[in-house]
Amino acid sequence: MSADLSALPDPPQKLRRLCVVLGDQLDAESAVFDAFDPAQDALLLTEAAEEATYLAQHKKRLVLFFAAMRHFALEQAALGRPLIYRRLDGAAPAATLAESLIRAIRDFDPEEIRVAQPGDHRVLTALEAAANGAGKPLLALEDRHFLVSRARFADWFRGRKRILLEDFYRAERKRAGWLMTEDGQPVGGAWNFDKDNRKSFGAEGPGLIAPRPRFEPDPVTREVIAMVRARFAAAPGAIDGFAEAVTRADALQALEDFIANRLPRFGDHQDAMATGHVTLNHSRLSTSLNLKLLHPREVCEAALAAYAAGRAPLNAVEGFVRQILGWREYVRGIYWSLMPAYAQRNGLGAGETVPAFFWTGETEMACLADGLGGVMREGYAHHIQRLMVMGLFMMLYGARPYAAHEWHMALYLDAIDWVSLPNVLGMSQHGDEGVVGSKPYAASGAYIDRMSDHCAGCPYDPKQATGPKACPFTTLYWSFLERHEDRFKPNMRMRMQLANLARKDAEERKTIRQAEAALRRRLTV
Ligand code: FAD
Ligand code: SF4
Repeated sequence: MSADLSALPDPPQKLRRLCVVLGDQLDAESAVFDAFDPAQDALLLTEAAEEATYLAQHKKRLVLFFAAMRHFALEQAALGRPLIYRRLDGAAPAATLAESLIRAIRDFDPEEIRVAQPGDHRVLTALEAAANGAGKPLLALEDRHFLVSRARFADWFRGRKRILLEDFYRAERKRAGWLMTEDGQPVGGAWNFDKDNRKSFGAEGPGLIAPRPRFEPDPVTREVIAMVRARFAAAPGAIDGFAEAVTRADALQALEDFIANRLPRFGDHQDAMATGHVTLNHSRLSTSLNLKLLHPREVCEAALAAYAAGRAPLNAVEGFVRQILGWREYVRGIYWSLMPAYAQRNGLGAGETVPAFFWTGETEMACLADGLGGVMREGYAHHIQRLMVMGLFMMLYGARPYAAHEWHMALYLDAIDWVSLPNVLGMSQHGDEGVVGSKPYAASGAYIDRMSDHCAGCPYDPKQATGPKACPFTTLYWSFLERHEDRFKPNMRMRMQLANLARKDAEERKTIRQAEAALRRRLTV
């Protein structure tokens, strides 16, 4: 594809509709295109400087968003759709999305401004303010990308005593009819097969896993890479080796590859970790899903078809569908039901910043070095590393939940506010006091030892909380439990952990507190 964005069809002088397309809304079937008339309507896409700089972002994340936007714009132009595309390195760049919108309103006086509901409350507020200020209301249309509308989630959420993923997931499974028998029972006699999906790899390791496809940069992407190299040299993360899916065609190929090569083994080792293996049997489809290059329905249906054809087992397919129909829709519903106050929640009263080594990946802790290494190189870590290595460390350490979310937003290619915030602030940091998870995901180094091979190559010992070989996770785990002992007492799901803490006498607790203080001093130099 030519990189020439200057030859785009010109918008009409006076617009009926101005259709705002955001960087994470690259969905050709979006409601903004309904009844689109090239004679009267135009698209507006903006590489806003603020979006690239309000947080220092991973270079590959910047490349991904801008490259995907440019490809989408060129595809829309090929359909004959007029569009206004403001490049970050163009002649008239826009500092913010709002500024770009205000300029377009001034230049083209649209009768109507349409946008699919943004995935970030901050962006929605800014666009609304800009449009209202110019005397033009903003029409935020249902984002049809999702399987569950905001209204349907709100109906389910309202007045509910238990906000449990499992209840939501079962209701949606029944509604979709996925993996259901004719008499309305879950196929295989169970709603989930979690117990089959928690195996570690054992001494033989993960074995041979087909590498995921690479999408070598075309001229459009190469131009973006050059721009990011020049303008964002100080941004975190590596830029070399960028090979992410940036078009729908790429994303479809990545989906096909996952279904054929990794889905069959997705289930068994879903929670396992192995040194040097970034992807394992995970799909790596979250970026394409979140940019809206793929629809969750087609992704789930591809997995269901593999099951029907006997090409993937039930525990893998059910586990995969639950992540998308269940978790992904659930966290989005939580986000829109509780924002904007949700972002302020800090249920555990955590007050630390994110440790400095989280921005470089340089640490002697083998599990964190491996997880953070993948993040710095690829802008990716799989779920259990996010939750039980990086997330766990930040929670035990006491990082502010919103700071943890900002770190995540900065460095992961798939992070968008609606999905990062409930996962980070809620699930991993327990900052929402139990909305997303009924108990904190607190564990010592023993969990990481059980689920990975990391500890064997680490200078620390996961069993030790004190002494020169003390594992920082284990030290922080006990001090975390002690710090929040009274808070967690009413939570029956914390009973076992608190009972173990209760076995530690005053002297042992004091030694752990001293080890914790020494560790904190080490981490802040
Ligand atoms: P797979 O393991 O192959 O899973 C398949 C798909 O299921 C994913 O592509 C994703 O779309 C969906 N999914 C699975 N779990 C979740 C979940 N908890 N919430 C939403 N979708 C889910 N996911 C994001 O898309 N963006 C984020 O910013 C994000 N932040 C996270 C932060 C933390 C602390 C945690 C614990 C999880 C986060 N997740 C996030 C969820 C999940 O970890 C990622 O979706 C997943 O690791 C992406 O890799 P994958 O495509 O290989 O996923
Ligand atoms: Fe991580 Fe502790 Fe194991 Fe080292 S010993 S790899 S720090 S859990």
